[in-house]
Amino acid sequence: MDHKFKPESLMMTYGYKPELSEGAIKCPIFQTSTFAFKTAEEGKAFFEVAYGKRDKLPNEELGLIYSRINNPDLEILENRLCLWDKADDCAVFESGMAAISTVLLEFLKPGDLLVYSTPLYGGTDHFIQHFLPKFGIETLGFTSGQEGDELEKMIRDSGKADKLAMMILETPANPTNHLIDIESCRAVANKFNTSDNEVLIAVDNTYMGPLWQHPLQLGADFVMYSATKYIGGHSDVIAGAVLGRKDLMVRIKTLRTFLGNMAGPNTGWLLMRSLETLKVRMERQQQNAIKVAGFLNAHPKVESVHYLGLIDKNSPAYKIYKRQYSGPGAMVSFDIAGGEKEAFKFLNSLKLIKLAVSLGSTESLAQHPVTMTHTGVDPDHARKMGITEKLIRVSIGVEDSDDIIWDIEQALSKV
Ligand SMILES: *Cc1c(COP(=O)(O)O)cnc(C)c1O
Repeated sequence: MDHKFKPESLMMTYGYKPELSEGAIKCPIFQTSTFAFKTAEEGKAFFEVAYGKRDKLPNEELGLIYSRINNPDLEILENRLCLWDKADDCAVFESGMAAISTVLLEFLKPGDLLVYSTPLYGGTDHFIQHFLPKFGIETLGFTSGQEGDELEKMIRDSGKADKLAMMILETPANPTNHLIDIESCRAVANKFNTSDNEVLIAVDNTYMGPLWQHPLQLGADFVMYSATKYIGGHSDVIAGAVLGRKDLMVRIKTLRTFLGNMAGPNTGWLLMRSLETLKVRMERQQQNAIKVAGFLNAHPKVESVHYLGLIDKNSPAYKIYKRQYSGPGAMVSFDIAGGEKEAFKFLNSLKLIKLAVSLGSTESLAQHPVTMTHTGVDPDHARKMGITEKLIRVSIGVEDSDDIIWDIEQALSKV
């Protein structure tokens, strides 16, 4: 009798009871700031649980109090997101940056050391470089290929090893698609665990999640998302999410309540709608990307293609790819023969693909990282990581693959 449904089969119904909403088949938008208690005793009980004055009784659910604390559109969305990553709990935020900054603020304190992989998303990088130092938090960056002994040595040499509190990783790195070995980072982090200090690992899974990479299964404590990207998937909403272990999520949800950066009911509703098609969208995007990457790889005006599906089978990166990912994804970047002039000519000649930042949406988008998303990165460092004038990043959408390839071909012919 027991049948375990796959997440994609549950995205339309899971966690929602039509009988509580006049039989409405879809979860309505609960556009309300506050919720009526049946009795004063019930209000008291809800607050006792919400403020952690006592644990929930078996079968007791956190009652609805006020939409900064909880709201049905948020709770049902969070329960559905948990299914993809097999997480205990989830917190949804009004942006990816709100999700990431809340994790960092909750688990770091003055004097701590934060280790981070590079390149990181520009907003995360800015928060780490320019905001955290104001609170006396020290940071140490490393890059793909340094995860094992080299990273351990870098941490020891920093003189702050006993203060290591957290690692924040982004893999594949944006926009170069370099891979970071999560299990290897876990092993290094564990060497610095002490009885009163657990080193936490947070992975930004925006590029590959929640379908093709599951960091919690690889030893991460948190998985973080810009839900603006694949989860939202239609370039019409800004949102974020954090998932992880119960005891850690309690702390994140508590800080969210007091920062007030939770997502509103409209955002919750829109993301639930998006989750219904998440798997079909992402699978189609991946199928298209495999074809586009193959086309680019054979084109004389393209010097090299950075795509998980094209990693050299004899390279160390391929081993990480096989262990960590269930598919190559739908983010392709490539070096065009030439420099900024050629790259701009290509981007300005596209007819179907839109020239815009962001990613993961139904429409294909192209951009020039070194002058756009990554313009804030130190030029020497950017060059070392392969973020050059030649590099173009394309997020592949759900259009017909022949049409996407036609567009790329005609734009390359103008260069
Ligand atoms: C977009 C993005 C973010 C930031 O998310 P917002 O929803 O724009 O706040 C963080 N990380 C990655 C990898 C992203 O692509």
